Amino acid sequence: MISGAYRDQFHIPPVNGKDSIYLCGNSLGLQPKKVKEYVTEVLDDWAMLGVEGHTQAKYPWLPYHEFLTSSMARLVGGKESEVVTMNSLTVNLHLLMASFYRPNKKRYKILIESDAFPSDKYAVASQAKMHGFDERDAIIEWAPPPGEHCVRLEGLKEILEQQGEEIALFLIGGVNYYTGQYMDIKTITEMGHAHGITVGFDLAHAAGNVAMKLHDWKVDFAAWCSYKYLNSGPGSLGAIFIHDKHGQDMSVPRLSGWWGHNKVTRFGMRDAYDPLPGAEGWQLSNPPILPLAAMRASLELFDQAGIENLQSAAKENVKFLYDAFADSKLIKVITPENPTERGGQLSLLVLHDGKKLYDHITAHRVIADWREPDVIRIATAPLYTTMQDAEAFVRIVESFR
Ligand SMILES: *Cc1c(COP(=O)(O)O)cnc(C)c1O
Repeated sequence: MISGAYRDQFHIPPVNGKDSIYLCGNSLGLQPKKVKEYVTEVLDDWAMLGVEGHTQAKYPWLPYHEFLTSSMARLVGGKESEVVTMNSLTVNLHLLMASFYRPNKKRYKILIESDAFPSDKYAVASQAKMHGFDERDAIIEWAPPPGEHCVRLEGLKEILEQQGEEIALFLIGGVNYYTGQYMDIKTITEMGHAHGITVGFDLAHAAGNVAMKLHDWKVDFAAWCSYKYLNSGPGSLGAIFIHDKHGQDMSVPRLSGWWGHNKVTRFGMRDAYDPLPGAEGWQLSNPPILPLAAMRASLELFDQAGIENLQSAAKENVKFLYDAFADSKLIKVITPENPTERGGQLSLLVLHDGKKLYDHITAHRVIADWREPDVIRIATAPLYTTMQDAEAFVRIVESFR
């Protein structure tokens, strides 16, 4: 498959009447053309059926989230019982930590990357506080070696040798949002487990970008959003993975609501809570169907293309871009050079006049992401980003002076 093979299935935002060079799929994925049809279908069902849409719609609302489960599970390498679409990402991180961050006086620390997305940092700090710990003591940051931008496993090893028995939880970005570094999820999980630590991943920048095998890698839990590489629309729903070793264990405590209750008796409105086995047992509320409809349109394309094919198509574009800037006096790529340590994103540290360069590329129809003080993030989202986009981007950067 070549990168951009599904481009005609997407709306490409225009700039000055021409297609933009859209390199921002890591931030907000583009709209699949089928979204309108699928969302309209739900609106029509609601208009024509009212409450009966729960059971009578072509895609009935009661089980609507189930239509997405197998596609979502394939993307992360989970079993269907291990994955469910629900809520938003940060909300899900908290729900998962309610179950999997169970600190005691001896083992209470949470390890996170130093460059983690702010929401994740706020989430872990507040969890530690909720349990009565001081975040300055309870949160350990896994930082890159001095002068480098990406973390190394040796650094994690050192932390574990010193504090491994005090750490309760890892919460790590599968692909770091800032550097684009794709972590060695399997090895990190093994390292954590060897010290008795529960290991969770935030896959916001990994889902739909890289192929994973969460079940085989024995990851304890993960959460991700669907509006980045997964093209499901601004603020659309997130999803979670809970390994069956926990999901099928009904003694694992969880915050509960009626949507996590046994489907057969859910509407009996009985008092006794009877949780569903698997990730579905972590649902609280009945989900909003309109964004799920948008997600269905997007995940169909991932099913057609296959995540492994998409990942290798992206690799070519990313290598082209990496090589193009290898000798640049203006740009230092901070994403790892090793192809197994990156996905579709490259983070470009601009050595001088960064904001001016960003304004220059913007004036030339490039839509990319600016991070203060000096980083431009670009992403190739291989459903719709073409090699021509990558080539045009390099030419535009080279024309900057
Ligand atoms: C995008 C992103 C978020 C955003 O969280 P929401 O709850 O969806 O607003 C959180 N964490 C990471 C790592 C992200 O990349």
